[in-house]
Amino acid sequence: MKLDEILHKTDLNKEEIVYLLELSDFRNTRKLFERADEVRKFYCGDEVHLRAIVDFSNYCENDCLYCGLRRSNNNIQRYRMSPDEIIETAKTISNVGIRSIVLQSGDDKNFDVDKIAYIIYFIKQNFDIAITLSLGERDFEEYKIWKYAGADRYLIKHETANAKLYSVLHEKQNLKERIEHLEFLKSIGYEVGSGNLIGLPQQTIEDIAEDLLLCKKLDIDMASFSPFVPSPNTPYRNKNVGSVELTLKTIAVGRILLKNTHIPATTAIATIDSLGREKALRVGANVVMPDFTPKNYRDNYCLYPHKRLLVDDPINSASFIQHIMNSLGRRVSNSRGDSLKKQSHLI
Ligand code: SAM
Repeated sequence: MKLDEILHKTDLNKEEIVYLLELSDFRNTRKLFERADEVRKFYCGDEVHLRAIVDFSNYCENDCLYCGLRRSNNNIQRYRMSPDEIIETAKTISNVGIRSIVLQSGDDKNFDVDKIAYIIYFIKQNFDIAITLSLGERDFEEYKIWKYAGADRYLIKHETANAKLYSVLHEKQNLKERIEHLEFLKSIGYEVGSGNLIGLPQQTIEDIAEDLLLCKKLDIDMASFSPFVPSPNTPYRNKNVGSVELTLKTIAVGRILLKNTHIPATTAIATIDSLGREKALRVGANVVMPDFTPKNYRDNYCLYPHKRLLVDDPINSASFIQHIMNSLGRRVSNSRGDSLKKQSHLI
């Protein structure tokens, strides 16, 4: 089958996805990117949704081989923001006009069910903002309580759809359970985000095709495809960095396959390529996640080195981001950026 025919199919099988991810010549890759941008425009429009991230704790009970927050990394200074500091940061985000906040941390049970519920409830009572939680795997009861408290979304990547590789990377966790968590979160009404890492040691193109198919199967609301960035003080510190080109192709194929699913231009791609964020927005991405973690904590949330920030000073962020989007012919949305699937009966 010809490339043009594949690019215009309504669904893609594994073989076709692998074929697209393996495109290597400039002309055909450009065709893939242009088609992805066309699909993005049709299903998502020109708006770019902002989700402000607050990394409120870098304590983690897990020991993932790739992550700088891993439990056995004794070379970072651990911190926890207080509930008041988190709420104050949410206020700053709301004041600059951003209506979506991501509360993210290592897997830190010190933030127990009540503490998180209090933070959610307070923010929802005082600011008109959607809340995404990204706290790792927690008890199903806790997910329910936080939903009642007002949480809207949950972000937890499946990281890799290769069950064997998943078990190598994650000491105590397995892929089957990760998928059960994603399914449960969806079943109780969360908008769910997931996704993978690209360029993990031993990962194949077929694995990445399976990642894309898993995102499709789970019918997730946001899919994040970001490169693996080697982190010092981890067993993977000397491994190769994930490829920008392959990440962009994964985003593009993801857009064609997943259609109206939100796809972020991640901090990780911006970190390994100074124009990575803009490139991702041109090949299918429609979400940007600026970091609003207070400056005094930010450097210690070190998943990998030299995280490239979009904004340094949150107060000036809105106009700065608007400026970048304008240069791409896009505009910053002033909505909460809810799942586009809720409106999909119109498509
Ligand atoms: N504890 C939560 C969890 O596990 O989902 C949220 C925090 S966790 C650090 C957030 C994400 O960081 C993970 O889903 C993982 O994909 C990403 N990450 C960790 N180490 C990374 C690395 N070296 N390169 C790129 N991304 C990384």
